[in-house]
Amino acid sequence: MSKSTPVRRRAAFVFGPPLVAATLGVLLLVQGAAGSSFEILKERRQERVDSGWVVPTPSFTDYLYPRLATTFAGSEFVVVNKVNPLDPIDFAPQVREIESSSTLDNSRGLTLREVAATALEKLAAAMASDGAGKLFVNSAYRSYDYQSDLFVQKIEQYGEEEALVRSAKPGHSEHQTGLAVDVSVPAQGCAIMQCFGDTEAGKWIAENAWRFGFVVRYELDTVSTTGYTYEPWHLRYIGRELSTMYHENGIHTLEDFWGYPAAPDYEMAASTTD
Ligand SMILES: [Zn+2]
Repeated sequence: MSKSTPVRRRAAFVFGPPLVAATLGVLLLVQGAAGSSFEILKERRQERVDSGWVVPTPSFTDYLYPRLATTFAGSEFVVVNKVNPLDPIDFAPQVREIESSSTLDNSRGLTLREVAATALEKLAAAMASDGAGKLFVNSAYRSYDYQSDLFVQKIEQYGEEEALVRSAKPGHSEHQTGLAVDVSVPAQGCAIMQCFGDTEAGKWIAENAWRFGFVVRYELDTVSTTGYTYEPWHLRYIGRELSTMYHENGIHTLEDFWGYPAAPDYEMAASTTD
């Protein structure tokens, strides 16, 4: 099917018991909450369990996704685009260095959040064992300050209009979540170029990244939704449950996946507050 007839989510996919969604939302809030309030919530939860409350065990395939969590900077589900900056805008996740190995070259010493780093290491091992090449990490976590410097550099180099196309404003880059990574296989060429999608590695990634919880965030012909042209090298970690659903439902953007409006441009109101 062409992009003009995207796969629509089934009703069961969209509407679920609000109670379960709220519970999941609270649990995700708890994840992002400060340690002390987490302890309090844990205690309260234990009290309820002790009084006979059954902890729900919802399945991602049965219930509404905790869409609320797409606005939490620390959530694996967070949606960052030109109209949804991170909140707080200078959010800084806990990250660790991606481990270099015989199947992965992280000679730049780049970092990701633990879940994404582990997933990337597994992806690289599978990719190499399928003979699709040794993965090189070009870019991974970028702090707010780093992204600011990058953006200013691009403005000086190309002017503001072109800079906006080439680089995200600080606070609006998926790289600041610690869940996004730019990869290449230098031996196959086309590093950080659209022709990477035609290399053996690029094809393997497009077909298999979802098995490790990643999606190619900016696919061909999705610029009107995402505001970014095709980037076959930019992977975004969303977790395996979501990436599997994304894959199985033939979704092409996180905006479509969550039912968010298209975000092709920075909003005037947003840009004046940056
Ligand atoms: Zn990227």
